[in-house]
Amino acid sequence: KVAGIIVQQPLPECIPLRAVIDAIDPRKDIDGIHPLNAGLLALGYEGYLPATAHASVELLKRSGIELAGKDAVVVGRSNIVGKPIANMMVQKGPGANSTVTVVHTRTKDLAAHCKRADILIVAAGVPGLVKPEWIKEGACVIDVGVNRVGTKISEKTGKKIAILSGDVDFDAAKEIAGYITPVPGGVGPMTITMLMRNTLNSLKFKLGIA
Ligand code: NAD
Repeated sequence: KVAGIIVQQPLPECIPLRAVIDAIDPRKDIDGIHPLNAGLLALGYEGYLPATAHASVELLKRSGIELAGKDAVVVGRSNIVGKPIANMMVQKGPGANSTVTVVHTRTKDLAAHCKRADILIVAAGVPGLVKPEWIKEGACVIDVGVNRVGTKISEKTGKKIAILSGDVDFDAAKEIAGYITPVPGGVGPMTITMLMRNTLNSLKFKLGIA
């Protein structure tokens, strides 16, 4: 009766993530975290794509941003965001063909890499990590980071809610970037859309109508 399964990470430390991932039927792996789907992506074959990574690349494509030949820098190398984004953008084919650099905590000069990016995708989980002066004039910035930086009272409900911020200082960066996604309201809603798409495809496959 189940069409799709996602694993909400991080798991409690007592639960081994790898064992949980291995237990997912790859045909129901709608967040593309099973090694089979990760391998299919790396090889450029069709499979389930991780929703956030897919959302980030889909936002570029649907905004008419040319990816071919562009210098793309991905900040973050997680299995569910950074690595799959890099794998998608480096593929040979339409809506890809970028020259991709993945940077991370051990990268020597983060600023220099970011500065030469035509397309800068930031998924580190560190508020304000990417400074406005690290952004190339006219670059396209996708801010994947979602950080809780405080709390406020919701005007709608009167309840205490989290104040969210991305990994990029949006207000300063928007004056330099050609395109930039806000947090909240950028990658997040598109992630839900990609997850729904995978769920629908999984259901169609299950019903034999795919
Ligand atoms: P993660 O912690 O697994 O990975 C973060 C990566 O960033 C690591 O590879 C690390 O090397 C790199 N990094 C961290 N600090 C850095 C620094 N100072 N300099 C350079 N690199 C650094 O996180 P994740 O699961 O990949 O998520 C990343 C961010 O995206 C988080 O803020 C998370 O909340 C957000 N996220 C958003 C969505 C969405 O739907 N919008 C979905 C998933 C994750």
